[in-house]
Amino acid sequence: MESLDELFYREPYAREFQATVTGCTKGPKGWEVTLDDTAFYPEGGGQTADHGTLDKAKVSDVKRVHGVIVHYTDAELAVGSKVTGKIDWDRRFDNMQNHSGEHLLSGIIHAKLKYDNVGFHMDDSVITVDFNGPITPEQLAGFEKEANDAIAKDVPLDIAFPSAEELEKLDYRSKKELSGRVRIVTIPGYDSCACCGTHVARTGEIGILKCLSLAKHRGGVRIEFVCGRRAWLDYSKKVEEAHAVSMLLSAKPNEISGAVQKVLDEVAARDQKIAQINERYFRLKASTVPAGQKFALFFEDGLSQIEIKKFCNLLVEEKRAGVCAVLSPAASGNAWNYIVASDTTDLKAIGKDLNKALNGRGGGNGKFVQGTYQAAREEIEQKLKEAFS
Ligand SMILES: [Zn+2]
Repeated sequence: MESLDELFYREPYAREFQATVTGCTKGPKGWEVTLDDTAFYPEGGGQTADHGTLDKAKVSDVKRVHGVIVHYTDAELAVGSKVTGKIDWDRRFDNMQNHSGEHLLSGIIHAKLKYDNVGFHMDDSVITVDFNGPITPEQLAGFEKEANDAIAKDVPLDIAFPSAEELEKLDYRSKKELSGRVRIVTIPGYDSCACCGTHVARTGEIGILKCLSLAKHRGGVRIEFVCGRRAWLDYSKKVEEAHAVSMLLSAKPNEISGAVQKVLDEVAARDQKIAQINERYFRLKASTVPAGQKFALFFEDGLSQIEIKKFCNLLVEEKRAGVCAVLSPAASGNAWNYIVASDTTDLKAIGKDLNKALNGRGGGNGKFVQGTYQAAREEIEQKLKEAFS
């Protein structure tokens, strides 16, 4: 049962505090420390736990276990001693910004579309919220704008513990049936929600809210977004990336997608040209096979699987030999990619024998076998000639 009157509730901006150690035992995750009061927020309500220190001991996780807040530390603390707790404030304030931003966005969407927030997840990089109905990108852009307008208005948040009778009359969002003391976090004009998390005092402190993605999810949608410090870090990273791409492409940072499209078009045109040149080369090569050959064999450098296939098909189509084989070195080690094809000889059994003899892999049908031989060129040449000449 949550008491809802710990220090992190009474003074959500407390970064440093004094407390007495009431318990310290060794557990599987390190030392498990309990205090007579704490500013460390335990994981809960979608919000991650605070990190920080208790004297010299590092606090790497905080959980509420059977109503008691347990701090997981890397060092033992003497029971009965007074300790100084310090919260990793960048992390906590970032959590407050993002959790309050989540209420704001969920409240706006609930007011406009009557959808419920059916899933909320906060990790160290992004926040996701799930809603039980469809939302279009245009709608979301509108909600995002409204959230940022609310941030600019710097609305003070209100936190209250209404009586059972007051709760009856109150319209608020809640994920589950609540019993006992209920903590209602209100952003006047935007949202009212039962919540046990930590929040900023005014919407201005959220700084900014930016949606990153919108995807269909279980009949509704999943929205990924960031607020405050996280949004600033995300923006910084994206500016850096856009700058790097713009330097590579000699384009303005806000016009890089057009420049990338241009590069892709050029690559596609070049690929087409290479395919045409290859075809001319393959035809020229094919014409060197004397008429009436039983077997035509080519070892060619630098052909892709598709190019090997094109060349071999061309040899068969032009009936250059009874059996045609094309090989090119594989990317790794002493191996050759191969294709053997024939319109007249059944290759199925021979293909298997050759795989066995040349440490090969692959297969095919009677007219066509492909794969890799793991053997030296001379050995491959000898075995293939024995089989088909
Ligand atoms: Zn909440």
